[in-house]
Amino acid sequence: MQIHNLSETPSILNTFMSELRDKTIQKDSMRFRRNIERIGEIMSYELSKSLQFNATTIETPLGNSETVLHKKDIVLCSILRAGVPLHNGLLNYFDAAENAFISAYRHHKHDPESFEIIVEYLACPSLEGKTLILADPMLATGQSMVATFEALKPFGTPKDIHLVSIIGAQEGVDYVSSAFDADVKLWIAAIDENLNEKGYIIPGLGDAGDLAFGNKLQQ
Ligand code: URA
Repeated sequence: MQIHNLSETPSILNTFMSELRDKTIQKDSMRFRRNIERIGEIMSYELSKSLQFNATTIETPLGNSETVLHKKDIVLCSILRAGVPLHNGLLNYFDAAENAFISAYRHHKHDPESFEIIVEYLACPSLEGKTLILADPMLATGQSMVATFEALKPFGTPKDIHLVSIIGAQEGVDYVSSAFDADVKLWIAAIDENLNEKGYIIPGLGDAGDLAFGNKLQQ
């Protein structure tokens, strides 16, 4: 897997990331969602540089303009519910993309510190020969990303796969890296060192789903 860690080059992304992590600013859930969306837009731009482009002629009112445009074969897939603002950011730029949604949640059997990933809802177009962008804002253990990819396999074989995350734990990045082929690209805004015993990224930002959409009763 090829890792593109965007935090390696300081940019405006640092402002959005610091606001996402800041425990005071993140109380403003609209700003939290919008910052995730803005990061999704930056990720789209960065990722777009590695897409396939074809020569095209555009007719202006005064003549012809030669350019190259990317192939419109993208499927964006996000994991509910925390993935929704990131999905919106990606879709703002890849506005012609098809879309897939999947629900994956952590099910704690007996021990609060161990869980399995349950995949339930899935709506997906054909992936055959297409460019799949799989987005999960928090790459903690990496299990959701891998379980999602497994669930997508019956829908066809994509020609290219891009993974998009905002913050990953090193452990999760290593796990995903071992599960995907060498030509798969991961676009990520920060890689933090640790995961705590409950599977949260440290320092991370907290629970992205709750911060975007409010608390839930389920654990
Ligand atoms: N999901 C989150 O929302 N936060 C984490 O730190 C890990 C998983």
